Amino acid sequence: MAKSRIIIALAPKAKATVVSGISLSHPDRQLWPGISKLQLAEYWQQIAPTALPGIVRRPLSILRCPDGIDGHERFFQKNGHNALPDAVREGLAIHQPFLAIDDLAGLVAMAQMSAIELHAWGANEANPTHPDRLVFDLDPGEGVRFSEVIRAAHDIRARLRQLKLESFCRTTGGKGLHVVVPLLPDADWEKAKAFTRALAELMTAEEPKRFVAHLKIADRDGKILIDWLRNGLGATAVASFSPRARPGATVATPIAWDEVTDQLDPATFSVLTVPVRLAAQKFDPWQDFDLLTQRLPTLPIAPTPSPVPKPASGRSKIVVASAPRKR
Ligand code: ATP
Ligand code: MN
Repeated sequence: MAKSRIIIALAPKAKATVVSGISLSHPDRQLWPGISKLQLAEYWQQIAPTALPGIVRRPLSILRCPDGIDGHERFFQKNGHNALPDAVREGLAIHQPFLAIDDLAGLVAMAQMSAIELHAWGANEANPTHPDRLVFDLDPGEGVRFSEVIRAAHDIRARLRQLKLESFCRTTGGKGLHVVVPLLPDADWEKAKAFTRALAELMTAEEPKRFVAHLKIADRDGKILIDWLRNGLGATAVASFSPRARPGATVATPIAWDEVTDQLDPATFSVLTVPVRLAAQKFDPWQDFDLLTQRLPTLPIAPTPSPVPKPASGRSKIVVASAPRKR
């Protein structure tokens, strides 16, 4: 039998779309329903001046979704496997691999790679062993209303203020909130972790019905996990302004404390709305973040003097300094 001849008609090669010097393949590919890869690149282009300072030269991990958020493939990536665009670098800090970018081209290259989420270390690439920010990740368990997460964020802020530390709030684009503390990078991760752990465990010991400070899922129903484990060498938290690979193309958004009210709806901050918000914003709610010069207080942390004596839980692992007693 004669071999049938297969004729493949080659479609003319689509013209590459170039954004900020980066060639986008498949610019029309939907990363979220109704939002294309090109739109993600343009999102970064619009907000880069505000977003870049918190992202550049900081070790990153990325969440890539080559076929969009509903696609089959979805993977977290910490190194380059020798296949990175020029605008994305790879690095190693104390045996921990990471990726890093330096500019807008890096952000657009991330979009080109369908890297929807950027997760950052709490340290700069130049000094990876000494954090310049701490993150308290508030994760509500089953049945916890968002208004409770809002109250918890204010409680952490107040507690930090007693320790002379200013903090900032960020929506995650998900179900919780992050409270972020800028630091001069002079304490190491061990001290940072001990501090965040002590604070989380103290708050949990004082209000065990509201908070939990360890990761056992079974204990989380109806409570808020104060996750202090974001604070360690190689641990990440979603970067400010990173979109999320979640429905609605939500964005982890830095907000002012006076926006942290029951009116706050993190779902309103998205790839489509955040550029509009930034354009309309009269001032940056995190403008002081990099200007503050604050250091970790020394442990142990004293508990808040309470008018109602609380029963000692006896189970907390932290050393709690007793408050001076009035006679
Ligand atoms: P939410 O408010 O919904 O809790 P989130 O950003 O705090 O949002 P997750 O996306 O669940 O929560 O991430 C929890 C932490 O784990 C983040 O700080 C993130 O950097 C990290 N993380 C997320 N995905 C991975 C992964 N696949 N591998 C390692 N770390 C991850
Ligand atoms: Mn969280």
